[in-house]
Amino acid sequence: MAETIDGFGDRDFWIVRTAHIGQPVDHGNDQPAHESLGPLNPEWFNRTQSAPLRCGRPTTAGKPCRARVAEPGAACPSHREVRR
Ligand SMILES: [Zn+2]
Repeated sequence: MAETIDGFGDRDFWIVRTAHIGQPVDHGNDQPAHESLGPLNPEWFNRTQSAPLRCGRPTTAGKPCRARVAEPGAACPSHREVRR
């Protein structure tokens, strides 16, 4: 049994065949072809254009702040730095 921890701190446990440790293993195509290259479907493009801009700063709950802002990358009043 082996344990891995991802960048978010989530732990996964794996059953490992000890006979394969150190040997190259074929996990399939690690570079699958990307689907739907080219411009977005007009419906999805319009949805992205009409979506409101959000603050996006992490909240105390760890989720992105959903307060609306006027410019891309701007912070909402709760997350704006105090300048002196
Ligand atoms: Zn915010």
